[in-house]
Amino acid sequence: MSEELNPFEIAQRQLDTAAEIMQLDPAVHEFLRWPIRELHVTLAVRMDDGSTQIFHGFRVQYNDARGPSKGGLRFHPHETIDTVRALSAWMTWKTAVMDIPLGGAKGGVICNPKVMSPGELERLSRAYIRQVGRILGENLDVPAPDVYTTPQIMAWMMDEYSVLRGYNVPGMITGKPLPLGGSAGRGDATARGGMYCVREAAKLLGLKTEGMSMAIQGFGNAGQYAATLGPELLGARIVAASDSQGGVYNPKGLDPDALIAHKMETGSVVDFPGSDSITNAELLELDVDILVPAALENQITLDNVDQVKAKIVAELANGPTTPDADDILYKKGIYVIPDFLCNAGGVTVSYFEQVQNSYGYYWKELEVHKLLDEKMTTAFHSVAEAAKAYDINNRMAAYVVAVGRVAEACKLRGWV
Ligand code: GLU
Repeated sequence: MSEELNPFEIAQRQLDTAAEIMQLDPAVHEFLRWPIRELHVTLAVRMDDGSTQIFHGFRVQYNDARGPSKGGLRFHPHETIDTVRALSAWMTWKTAVMDIPLGGAKGGVICNPKVMSPGELERLSRAYIRQVGRILGENLDVPAPDVYTTPQIMAWMMDEYSVLRGYNVPGMITGKPLPLGGSAGRGDATARGGMYCVREAAKLLGLKTEGMSMAIQGFGNAGQYAATLGPELLGARIVAASDSQGGVYNPKGLDPDALIAHKMETGSVVDFPGSDSITNAELLELDVDILVPAALENQITLDNVDQVKAKIVAELANGPTTPDADDILYKKGIYVIPDFLCNAGGVTVSYFEQVQNSYGYYWKELEVHKLLDEKMTTAFHSVAEAAKAYDINNRMAAYVVAVGRVAEACKLRGWV
């Protein structure tokens, strides 16, 4: 039998396992298996050559029992409604495990931003808000950047929404550029939060992070900041990195700033001077201390899990490991920091951004780092304690903590 790779089926299966461990009330369990609401939109966008192209987009609001829905927007050629559903479920567990007063949502548009001009991207972004804006708002649902979306895209969306409302509404979206009400420290928050988790994991395992080797799969926002923050915060050495075009490896270490500059210049990490070429698949199997999947879903599967050799897997991507692979990593004694804990720094600083937008007063970067560290460290240990108490892997422990909180909110509201 081949392994299930549909992200939504995976998300449901993970919840099912957690529900059994927690002996969750059957009605609550069934309720939490599904998004509460979703909107599908069709967008007509004028392209630079004068033609009109039709795009399909989604916004899925999974659960808002704990507060307004929250979650990013992806622009990706392989986006599917089931991927967006899964990601919206994971956002629900993410905000709950962090104990921030928000629910979970996700959005996406099927498109290839790599072949679109800035003008085309702007028109697509504004068209998305003209349709989806009716279910968005500071107290309803607040998007943010995700795969292939940027602060500039957030700025266009915020502007379009504000024009529709007739007044400035910075808090309707997060991950904005700083001059439009973005938060200091939002740019590197996902990677930074992940590195704080690795620090805590190493403490727990009795390991020193200084000199640890780190391989990073995916070199977008999260991967690039992990490359600089791994050395800065942990004293780790970056030995490998990859993107959709391939990877590079040097066991002695790669200079993160030079690697980022190379990526900016050429569009890829490939052919970075002083490194050997490796594939994405080879990167995952390197004998390193810390493996950071920071790309897309379903990267560590039954096909390659036996070859994974890292001591710590820090999941900055959403859904990089399948449930079957998860079981094997656990049996092998590899310490997995699960996605919706490890990459929750992004949404946590998004929440700080919303708070700052609502009172129109902005914090210094060091203050943001300090508050983020407190939040990540507390969440990390609540998960580690649940893993110990129930004798389960960290992902299931994160589920037990998060689902417990969402279930409690649903019950208190009288929904179930
Ligand atoms: N897209 C990011 C995530 O998957 C951030 C979401 C947000 O800031 O709302 O967590």
